[in-house]
Amino acid sequence: MRVLRSVSEFSSNLDEARSAGLKIGLVPTMGALHAGHRSLVERAHRECGFVAVTIFVNPLQFNDKGDLDAYPRTLEADLVLLSDAGADVVLVPGVTEMYPDYPAQPATTVHVGVVTDGLEGAFRPGHFDGVATVVTKLLCMSGRCRAYFGEKDFQQVAVVSRLVRDLLLPVDVIACATVREYDGLALSSRNARLSDADRKRASVISRALFCAAKEVSAGERDPESLRSTMAGVLASEPGVVAEYVAVVDPSDLSTPERLSGEVRLLIAARVGDVRLIDNVGAVVGAGVRQNVDGPAVKETTLEGATGS
Ligand code: AMP
Repeated sequence: MRVLRSVSEFSSNLDEARSAGLKIGLVPTMGALHAGHRSLVERAHRECGFVAVTIFVNPLQFNDKGDLDAYPRTLEADLVLLSDAGADVVLVPGVTEMYPDYPAQPATTVHVGVVTDGLEGAFRPGHFDGVATVVTKLLCMSGRCRAYFGEKDFQQVAVVSRLVRDLLLPVDVIACATVREYDGLALSSRNARLSDADRKRASVISRALFCAAKEVSAGERDPESLRSTMAGVLASEPGVVAEYVAVVDPSDLSTPERLSGEVRLLIAARVGDVRLIDNVGAVVGAGVRQNVDGPAVKETTLEGATGS
């Protein structure tokens, strides 16, 4: 596995692999890698002949400087995980390699409309401009590829899919199921910052989501009722403060008045001073007991949910 600091070397490596007839799988990350990231790299390795990973803590997408400074950085362990998971090349660019004028704002940024209006977009001003800008740069330097993203960041997948479509980029966006801990907590680099007590409390987020997902599969069509189910479960855990509980149509993230077909349930909450997000899918009236698919750190059976 090659570890590169230079964007142009990274692009040449990918060009060479493509010339040799290999399909490129790209996995963009911010490092502090865990089994969730690993599942993306392993899937890319199964489906593509050449796997490229990027590790870059993108300052443009942090609306809170404290959050950027506190973001965990574990490069040595990350490289061991990536080599083991089947990565062929890893780009670890310095900040001025990605943004030559840093700390000045770049004159060119990418803004994706519509799907960025609500949810994270409403609570983290500028966040998705930062995401869309860095992902566009990573996709442009990578060229034709399959790009793997986690459904854990559901709105991010919608933003990336939209920009790929609108900018006609030669990229297939692959959405991958969320990997969870034994108690349902979605793996996140931020979990490392939870105190022991907060770590226990944090599982209430997935409990709230799966409780509402079960109601959806039992036939609930009223989004307000589902929001109040989720808010009620969250409120049972003092110290967990909801930022939003939402029920959306997964195709465009709009909020329907009456639900039908596929539904996405989403939560953002603060647990202590750590902000966590999670989401699950469900189908109205599916009625069947379904296991969460995708790899889990430990086997979890969560009724009523689909996908992640
Ligand atoms: P990040 O390093 O947090 O920017 O995440 C890099 C990629 O890993 C993104 O596409 C995330 O959605 C994905 N990811 C993060 N956590 C998980 C998880 N628990 N399961 C699956 N994918 C994840």
